[in-house]
Amino acid sequence: MDRKITIAIDGHSSTGKSTAAKQLAQELQYIYVDTGAMYRAVSYFALSENLVHNERLDSQKLIDRLDDITITFKRNEETDRADVYLNGQNIEQQIRTLEVSNIVSHIAIISEVRAKLVAQQQAMGRDKGVVMDGRDIGTVVFPDAALKVFMTATPEVRAQRRYVELKQRGDEVTLDEVLHNVLERDRIDSTREDSPLIQADDAKLLDTSTMTREEQFELLLEWAKEAME
Ligand code: C5P
Repeated sequence: MDRKITIAIDGHSSTGKSTAAKQLAQELQYIYVDTGAMYRAVSYFALSENLVHNERLDSQKLIDRLDDITITFKRNEETDRADVYLNGQNIEQQIRTLEVSNIVSHIAIISEVRAKLVAQQQAMGRDKGVVMDGRDIGTVVFPDAALKVFMTATPEVRAQRRYVELKQRGDEVTLDEVLHNVLERDRIDSTREDSPLIQADDAKLLDTSTMTREEQFELLLEWAKEAME
């Protein structure tokens, strides 16, 4: 039997990371961890606890309340996917809105938030056999991961994909708003001081601009098999 490895998938927003990572984890019977959902859960907490006013976040208040935040994942029988829970409440739907997307990169700048979530992520991947997607998995969370992938695509392609997803949910958004959010998150994520989004030296680059989901999956699986040898 192949040895169990850690697979780190990082990259820009809306590149298809989570879809590909989820599919790969299912195929390998590995655990899948969506770390973006964890930063989104903290953002949802900040919004619902009124720590954001006129799009300005009270960072100190959030830091003081970090011990009040417990994030867990639980399998949803209907979708066969792991939903994210904040203090026992299923918030999977609430964290995918543009409102949360617009605040999340500002939350992810805060080192205290990152330290808390990174510790939890490292604990979840301790036994290997995990596919984790995010922005700093191959650089900070699991720098020794056996396979690191950095996913990207043109901003237009990414915005179009996210726009279709949001519209399907019934959200009132424009393509322009979504493109602006995608570009703004890339900018903040790539330029922050703590754990910026960068391609690890030993990460394989996967540009999904002109690839189908099936093609992405096939390539990832091939890389995973190689890494297990
Ligand atoms: O993956 P997703 O687009 O849901 O991530 C939302 C945001 O969470 C990112 O734009 C980034 O600001 C933050 N994030 C992060 N580090 C991670 C995962 C997500 O800073 N490992």
